[in-house]
Amino acid sequence: MKQKAVVVFSGGQDSTTCLFWALKQFDEVIAVTFDYQQRHIAELQCAKEICHELGIEHHVLDMSLLNQLAPNALTRSEIDITPGAEGELPSTFVEGRNLLFLSFAGVLAKVKGAKHLITGVCETDFSGYPDCRDIFIKSLNVTLNLSMDTDFVIHTPLMWLNKAETWELADQLGQFDYIRTKTLTCYEGIIGSGCGTCPACQLRQRGLDHYLMKKKAGN
Ligand SMILES: [Zn+2]
Repeated sequence: MKQKAVVVFSGGQDSTTCLFWALKQFDEVIAVTFDYQQRHIAELQCAKEICHELGIEHHVLDMSLLNQLAPNALTRSEIDITPGAEGELPSTFVEGRNLLFLSFAGVLAKVKGAKHLITGVCETDFSGYPDCRDIFIKSLNVTLNLSMDTDFVIHTPLMWLNKAETWELADQLGQFDYIRTKTLTCYEGIIGSGCGTCPACQLRQRGLDHYLMKKKAGN
């Protein structure tokens, strides 16, 4: 039987790495992107282009209601992006986002006859996001199975990786350059290495520097 998978895909570094990971594991891969009126339409565009280029079936689901529920710095341009004080959530946090995204991805998977769900959530860089935790994913996996009487498997290839190790995985998948130049992480909407100054760019660059240093030392 053909193994089908649905990848929660944003066009960023993490989910693109997951997309390539899924392409190696499964016979058929479908990507799903959530449109919640991101600050930058560039994010959606980037996700569309990657799927088009890779010839992947791509669904964009309207999640604008999320903005209605949780105005935040990713969706409202009048709110500044701040990293968040010690012990506080950053202003880019969207309450319950992964719960909603994975639930809708699950419904899509059921409709499409896909057993596998892939998400790039990660507990290692846990910045206070409760729905990025492994225990939450496991709990949701059970809930989704009960809700639709099915046997989904949620995969989280990045769960225990740090940012440098995520670059390493991209490299192992043979997609280091692709992910470095074609994905969008930057809050300013600049593809590749980005603006260089926003918190997302800094996090991405730190991981990249760390990985390149490690790679150089290993050779
Ligand atoms: Zn940036």
